[in-house]
Amino acid sequence: MSRRSLEAHRDAVARHLADALLPRTDRVGLDLLADPASDLGDLGDLVGRILAAPAVAGADAPPFDNSQLDGYAVRAADVRAGTPLPLAPEIAAGSVAAPLPAGHAAPIMTGAPLPPGADAVVAIERTEGDGFAAHAASGRVVLLVGPSAGDAVRTAASDLRRGDEVLPAGARLGPAALGALAAGAVDSVDLVARPRVAIVSTGRELAAGVRDANGPALAAAVLEAGGLATRWLHADDEPAAFARLLEDAARGADVVVTTGGVSRGTHEVVREALADRGEFVSVGIQPGGPQGLATVEVDGRDVPVLCFPGNPVSALVSFELLLRPLLRAAAGMHPAERATERRPLAEPVDSPPELHQVRRGIRAADGTVRLVGGASSHLIGAYARADALVHLPPGLASAPAGTPVDIWRIDD
Ligand code: AMP
Ligand code: MG
Repeated sequence: MSRRSLEAHRDAVARHLADALLPRTDRVGLDLLADPASDLGDLGDLVGRILAAPAVAGADAPPFDNSQLDGYAVRAADVRAGTPLPLAPEIAAGSVAAPLPAGHAAPIMTGAPLPPGADAVVAIERTEGDGFAAHAASGRVVLLVGPSAGDAVRTAASDLRRGDEVLPAGARLGPAALGALAAGAVDSVDLVARPRVAIVSTGRELAAGVRDANGPALAAAVLEAGGLATRWLHADDEPAAFARLLEDAARGADVVVTTGGVSRGTHEVVREALADRGEFVSVGIQPGGPQGLATVEVDGRDVPVLCFPGNPVSALVSFELLLRPLLRAAAGMHPAERATERRPLAEPVDSPPELHQVRRGIRAADGTVRLVGGASSHLIGAYARADALVHLPPGLASAPAGTPVDIWRIDD
């Protein structure tokens, strides 16, 4: 079997998944942002989502002119520093303010509505005497400064105006964004839909003592890439049963990922079951050489199937190289690709020169990258301790310590 380059296979996967991963939009109601009794799990489902269209404010924020601090609401023109003013009734946050009589000062708390007639607030720190209680006892207050109109007043809509854009299309819903959507009374948003991925782990050994590392790892990888992991199934090594399970998995999924059963052994269930519905190739990468692309039809829909090898490191590196960028792009997450950094190797390394080898590494404090765990593709424990993938491209056979190599950070 001839070998396909990584670049050629990436292109083939991108073409195969293109229709299934066309960006779609979800209209999502935001009632939960106005309700302290709402399920925080639902709020969690919004975090990190991407707006497909601008979010528009349904109300002004602030909703009314209000005080920026604790102090006295006044008519600026009435105040002369050092001259006592009689007190009007106190205005607390959440109350309705009566009009301020001319020549008076109303104690006002942060966030309380400015009374009609008032146009400025003077901070309690800029008054004579011992604070609100002492002023209330005397019925007067002496302001130490003469304010200008607008001082310490937060005007209505000074943050967000009803009908205006709160956030543009493409914005990510982080904490401040969700706070702004709540403050601006945005009642619904259009979000980029999360691509739905089902995972089928194969291998008789999964029912005979070998723990399935691929299902959880790939489901987590899908979630991190902005997708939705819909199913996680186990298939035996029997082709007919696997085919039935695959159809099950494809229902409600945009893409199915299988692991295992694609190499050159005798019980290669994925390859056997999908031989006439896909292509199985050898890609010039290590780990992850044996790869497959297939299609399964369910409910009149063609669902693409991506077939990764079964060793846990192979499956996860396959995801990184082939699927992650496509999922992120479909989910509206930018950049879709991992950022590449260049770092010198901390130690000498050998690599098969005909393959693009991907090793696991740790970014050392001295600026180098140290390999962790050897090249074997069963070493998921070492992968878990790594914070970088180290690319040793075709043509590199052995490199001394200090050789600069491309790495991808995988810890952000
Ligand atoms: P395969 O690609 O099916 O030939 O499997 C290659 C190796 O990966 C074998 O040692 C399998 O036992 C192991 N393997 C396959 N699937 C999984 C899985 N889901 N979790 C952990 N190891 C697996
Ligand atoms: Mg197997």
